[in-house]
Amino acid sequence: MIVNLECEMCHFEFDTELGKLEMDKTGTLIYEKKPTCPRCKAFDKVLITDKGFEQLNKWFLKYLDQITKKK
Ligand SMILES: [Zn+2]
Repeated sequence: MIVNLECEMCHFEFDTELGKLEMDKTGTLIYEKKPTCPRCKAFDKVLITDKGFEQLNKWFLKYLDQITKKK
């Protein structure tokens, strides 16, 4: 899925495709594709913006729903 992120190094905001998202047992978010800043090329140095957080929240609710249905 596409998530809005902010680069930790240069504070540039960008939308990026993180691929498939999953959450491990400790609640850590794992994404398929690690983000690279399009401006300074920093690899996997990102903060989630408010917009990104909303996107992830929506994803999380669907994700929880899926897990519940499997049981
Ligand atoms: Zn950057």
